[in-house]
Amino acid sequence: MDTTPASAFPDRARVVVIGGGIIGASVAYHLAHAGVGEVVLLERDRLTSGTTWHAAGLMATFGSTSQTSTELRMYTRDLYARLEAETGLATGLKQCGLIELAIEPGRLEEYRRVAAFNRLCGVEVHEISPREVADLFPLARVDDVLAGFYNPADGRVNPVDVTMSLARGARMRGARIIEGVPVTGFMRSGGAVAGVRTPRGDVEAEYVVNCAGMWARELGELAGVTIPLQSAEHYYLLTEPIEGVDGDWPVLEDPASYGYYREEGGGLMLGLFEPVCAPWQVSGVPADFSFGEISPDWDRMAPYLERTISRVPVVEETGIKKLFCGPESFTPDLLPIVGEAPELRNYFVAAGLNSIGILTGGGIGRVIAHWIAEGRPDIDVTAMNIDRLHRYQANPEYRATRTVESLGMVYETHYPGRPMRTARGAKVSPIHQRLVAQRAYFRDVSGWEGADWYAPEGVEPEAGQPSWGRQDWFGYWQAEHHAARTGVILMDMAFMAKFGVQGRDAGRVLEQVSANRVDGEPGRITYTQWLNPGGTLEADLTVTKLADDRFWVVASDTAHRHAETWLRRHIGDSRAFVTDVTSGYAQINIQGPRSRELLARVTSADMSNEAFPFRTAAEIDIGFARVLCIRITYLGELGYELYIPAEQAAGVYDRLVQAGHAVGLRHAGLKALGSLRMEKGYRDYGHDIDNTDTVLEAGLGFAAALDKPGGFIGRDAVLAQRERGPLRRRLVQVLVTDPEPLMFHAEVVRRDGRPAGYIRSASYGFTLGGAVGLAMIDADEPISQAWLDVGEWTVQIGDAVYPAAVSLRPMYDPGNKRIQA
Ligand SMILES: Cc1cc2nc3c(=O)[nH]c(=O)nc-3n(C[C@H](O)[C@H](O)[C@H](O)COP(=O)(O)OP(=O)(O)OC[C@H]3O[C@@H](n4cnc5c(N)ncnc54)[C@H](O)[C@@H]3O)c2cc1C
Repeated sequence: MDTTPASAFPDRARVVVIGGGIIGASVAYHLAHAGVGEVVLLERDRLTSGTTWHAAGLMATFGSTSQTSTELRMYTRDLYARLEAETGLATGLKQCGLIELAIEPGRLEEYRRVAAFNRLCGVEVHEISPREVADLFPLARVDDVLAGFYNPADGRVNPVDVTMSLARGARMRGARIIEGVPVTGFMRSGGAVAGVRTPRGDVEAEYVVNCAGMWARELGELAGVTIPLQSAEHYYLLTEPIEGVDGDWPVLEDPASYGYYREEGGGLMLGLFEPVCAPWQVSGVPADFSFGEISPDWDRMAPYLERTISRVPVVEETGIKKLFCGPESFTPDLLPIVGEAPELRNYFVAAGLNSIGILTGGGIGRVIAHWIAEGRPDIDVTAMNIDRLHRYQANPEYRATRTVESLGMVYETHYPGRPMRTARGAKVSPIHQRLVAQRAYFRDVSGWEGADWYAPEGVEPEAGQPSWGRQDWFGYWQAEHHAARTGVILMDMAFMAKFGVQGRDAGRVLEQVSANRVDGEPGRITYTQWLNPGGTLEADLTVTKLADDRFWVVASDTAHRHAETWLRRHIGDSRAFVTDVTSGYAQINIQGPRSRELLARVTSADMSNEAFPFRTAAEIDIGFARVLCIRITYLGELGYELYIPAEQAAGVYDRLVQAGHAVGLRHAGLKALGSLRMEKGYRDYGHDIDNTDTVLEAGLGFAAALDKPGGFIGRDAVLAQRERGPLRRRLVQVLVTDPEPLMFHAEVVRRDGRPAGYIRSASYGFTLGGAVGLAMIDADEPISQAWLDVGEWTVQIGDAVYPAAVSLRPMYDPGNKRIQA
């Protein structure tokens, strides 16, 4: 409890950190280290009293194909290793090693892919035999083990000790840590947070960081901030002492048995990640739940426990000391919720750690502190940014439904393209039922039902068994791809984020925010990036000028709230207004060399190349509807995007399909979108370009109007980078010349045998004839096409290495002839 006299309770701070779990302590520590003065951490009860006190403390750097997550893990382990020397408080870090078991071929393939990527990131990982697994962890049954993946420097830590050590480190640099003081409300001023309310008085603050763990959602609501996390039961079993168990053994993880295993008190701890889990306290976590436990549901857990125990059969004959159940917070996509709230400036959140809060906690604290101190993050945060999430995801029914799936996903084999199975149908396109009738196979696209591919007549649209290879639908996808290249396809894109931007100053604001020139003649669409002052990417989207005071902005689904917030925050006092019209308009894309022919059949508008050239935007008639038709493509062909008032979408769709019979119209899904755009080298923000890339490195310099009057945000940084000379970091297109292997993400790219980067996203190029992807290449010399051409390029896929072609320009239609035809 806080023993400071009432008079000494601070009434102001620069930053108030809420919550004294591992995350709050780490945020305070890093803020203090970053020199951000006047940091006050307020903890409702005592440090670690939420979830942190009972964590198992596993420390794993192996296992993720996200560069961000791997960096967070590595940084965290290194920090915990050096913390005691700084603070004098031990962390209990024990680098006894950690082994992941692969039991089935699919998992073996996954781990080989992950291992190659992790090694590129600097993680030490060895593939070891079942015999070696048994030598390292003699109680494990290894008869069915294919291989182990062993990192000798991983292991475990004591979560309470490390939190205390971080808190002391924060104090040593001037931060105040005050226990026994709950935050009960927030002050705000002019769209920004201005402080917190507590029973001890208000604390004014420039920044607030909500690190309240499973309470973070409800605390966010008090400030109007959406933090859609949900706590769930999380278990481990503790046995009585077992003869021969050694505290120096590595931690063992066997996801196929839903379990992890490590020494504890001379016996074993068996942790569980059951495939179907149980949300806890959907209506809200009790305010007085401290050092709390949940009474275990033996009946629910029994079948999982049986399987977990079967990996270490000795436990069948050992006494059980305790089946422990504690709550942990989970998020809708199993990624943490980090960053500045879109609803309220300077209100930061670091919560929803999905059972890896200890092993990433150091890194999360570092990122938040950097973000606050420097104004923006220094790593790719697109996947964990709070602004990827939407308000409906905080609904009790959504949380309760989705969370059932979350815990189990941690231990599933991570096959590519795994669809989310729960909370489906949250959002459907206005033409959804018609696509069902066309046998679309749907997947969750930011909560929307997105048609991924279409089954032919007589075939059920079912995904089948997940796999690293070609699945039954590979041929259907191929046919859709070819139809787009040779005929005409229809694609439902309702999930795209659409905004109307209006007002006297709309053009001026958009011109200032956009790197490209967007405020020219009405009736033109412009592809542009939005940059921050550092010249790195905040958004990648199109701006269409409809009239002098009316614009139409379209961004991808994942960038929805980020783009919207970025724009709103740059309007200031100007006369410009942003309206999110995503729900009001359907988007149907008609693409392919015969798309003009199709549209000409359904509209009286002149669709000829002369009357309707590339980049034209105009309202046209289709049936009873007025439709905004924009000639643009994201897949590299002649094509059009149709924006239709939602209530008229079905009618327009019917006209298109009816007229489409004569021109061989085919429905195409998002798989085809992926393969077509990848052949053309079109970027996708959050997948192959992110907030750490400059517009030049991303190969998008052509879309930056460096000479436009008045400039734009980030221009000086772009100019400075240009002046520094030829780039040594560039995004390149990579084509595997052998048509057989498939790429998905994170495959290591080498030049003359030396690692040069990895595939950020990939697809299969049916026209180019092989797997194709985009990779950011780093070199210690300038990267030009000539430099690429003289290198010998390969891609590692699993254990195999394949020759590859690399190019700065798109390999498909580099001269853009097809899109202008
Ligand atoms: C059984 C189990 C095993 C686990 N094992 C591991 C593991 O091996 N490795 C790993 O990395 N992770 C593990 N985890 C996950 C890990 O414990 C969590 O991710 C982590 O502890 C979350 O930390 P936090 O700081 O976000 O939350 P918490 O520890 O819950 O901290 C939040 C704090 O905020 C305080 N608070 C709440 N509301 C207020 C308010 N209004 N005002 C002030 N303070 C407030 C609370 O009192 C609490 O102390 C495990 C979790 C469980 C349940």
